[in-house]
Amino acid sequence: MPPRICFILPCYEEEKALSHTLPRIKEKYTSLVEKKLISPESRILFVDDGSQDNTWKILSAASEKDPIILALKLSRNYGHQNALLAGITEAYHLDFDATITMDADLQDDMDALDEFIKKYLEGYQVVYGVRSDRSTDSFFKRETALAFYNMMRFFQVPLVYNHADYRLLGRPAVEALLAFPERNLFLRGIIPLLGFPSTEVFYKRQERIAGHTKYPLKKMIAFALNGITSFSIQPIRLITFGGFVVSLMSIGILFYALFQKMAGKTVSGWTSVIFSLWFLGGLVLLSLGVIGEYIGRIYLEVKSRPRFFIEQKKGKNFHEKTSSH
Ligand code: UDP
Ligand code: MG
Repeated sequence: MPPRICFILPCYEEEKALSHTLPRIKEKYTSLVEKKLISPESRILFVDDGSQDNTWKILSAASEKDPIILALKLSRNYGHQNALLAGITEAYHLDFDATITMDADLQDDMDALDEFIKKYLEGYQVVYGVRSDRSTDSFFKRETALAFYNMMRFFQVPLVYNHADYRLLGRPAVEALLAFPERNLFLRGIIPLLGFPSTEVFYKRQERIAGHTKYPLKKMIAFALNGITSFSIQPIRLITFGGFVVSLMSIGILFYALFQKMAGKTVSGWTSVIFSLWFLGGLVLLSLGVIGEYIGRIYLEVKSRPRFFIEQKKGKNFHEKTSSH
């Protein structure tokens, strides 16, 4: 019996892309069923992450017309990672054998799906979609992505290089993922921590079919910061190290100042005083900032707020009800 797969596509203001994505994924679904790679009980689950445009209208109409389409509406915009988690949680409750998450803008090439499922059938519980190249990216996106991976490596966050959120998770991996209680989810960092047999499938990342990216620079920076602070205490260690080095330096400066005083040249010490004042002031502020960042995270985690609320569910598998996680 082929596996029951749940394809999960988070959508934030994707009305333009959906007219391309809907027919494409349905066509792919049919071909996978015909090849007996997936069960006809597989479903395509769209998660509307609080869009203001016609996304929900399109999705709910599609789910009424087509029994293979399920639609989930979150009560507001919770961000890509939480939208993915909402979809994965729902798929888990609906007892699917595996989930495959992908962008709703056709950037994650669907022709790679056959390979994903074959790997799953071979026994892999985690299959990462890895981009074979970045030629469809703008120069800016390419460079910032490279800086992102380098920084993550520097801060010792375990990431699969050139892998975003195009991935398959078998049920045991989904169950493990749902055991992570953190509010601020960074899926790319958590999945490698789960263990389980995992492998990679290479695909060529396409250009966005329509609409524009929902990851402007501001969100990219927030994403990277979240990745670092939720996985690594390296920045705090660096501060400790920096503090140690500066303290050693200040002993040197103390001797230098004493020497200058004995030589009767105190006034000329003004330069070094003003320099160390600014240097240390800067260092202290920076350190406070980094520590503050972590305390802020602790504050957010400790509150343990729900990660998303579901406003509506549409589709044959769903009973209409509201729930939260
Ligand atoms: N997305 C979402 N909530 C958000 C931002 C994005 O659900 O707050 C969805 C978006 O609709 C898309 C996927 O997440 O399906 C990835 O976003 P996008 O394609 O804009 O990012 P990029 O591929 O440019 O990095
Ligand atoms: Mg995209």
